[in-house]
Amino acid sequence: MSISFSHRKKNPFVWIINSLNNFIAPPRCEICQSYLDLDNNKYEFICQKCFDLIPLAPQPDVIYNRLISNFDKDDLYINGAVSLFSMKENHNYMKAIYSLKYSGFSRIGSELGKELGRLIKFYNKINFDALVPVPIHHARKRERGYNQSEYIAKGISEIIGCPVKTDIIKRKKYTQTQTLLSKTERRTNVANAIVPYNKNMKLNGGSFLLIDDVLTTGSTLNSCAKILLSLGAKNVEVATLVYA
Ligand SMILES: [Zn+2]
Repeated sequence: MSISFSHRKKNPFVWIINSLNNFIAPPRCEICQSYLDLDNNKYEFICQKCFDLIPLAPQPDVIYNRLISNFDKDDLYINGAVSLFSMKENHNYMKAIYSLKYSGFSRIGSELGKELGRLIKFYNKINFDALVPVPIHHARKRERGYNQSEYIAKGISEIIGCPVKTDIIKRKKYTQTQTLLSKTERRTNVANAIVPYNKNMKLNGGSFLLIDDVLTTGSTLNSCAKILLSLGAKNVEVATLVYA
């Protein structure tokens, strides 16, 4: 279920629940902590002023060149990359994203996904057979209540009109969170963690866009891409909200 402003206005039940919630705990900007006027503010978690200050990610070729530099030539399975925001220098914004990731992300993930979708459209990267959210382990999904990548993918899908497929790959190992690991540790951490749902699935030369929240070294995305290619995909690119 996508909870956007239009949704809240259309569904009286959701509107009442949200109004009660907003009365008890008025929404604040996650970054500057100012109260949000939800009737005039585009997002439920960040004020327009702070949103406009989030640094944008570099052009896709810059992002992709860094990916290339992270892998051996024969070990990169990704053909292109696009990200919306750049969070490298600005610690405050990064903190805000992580607080969202583990708490209120479900509410705004698809809204930001739509922004990313518009960027993907802008770069004319729209000829994909499916969007594939990077999977999290089912135990973590249970603990967190959602997979953030699926919400982002849902938003992108609304803009570029491409189906979201969550039944191609899964995560079999319960890997610890990537955020605190070094480059080498991340690589070991994700090795063999991503597997196909069904080894006999045939992707018939299709083109796929992998979706994740943050792009760091790209190890997880690359493992996913490798599996998609092994199932017969012809082209795999990636899209993330944040380039870190
Ligand atoms: Zn703010």
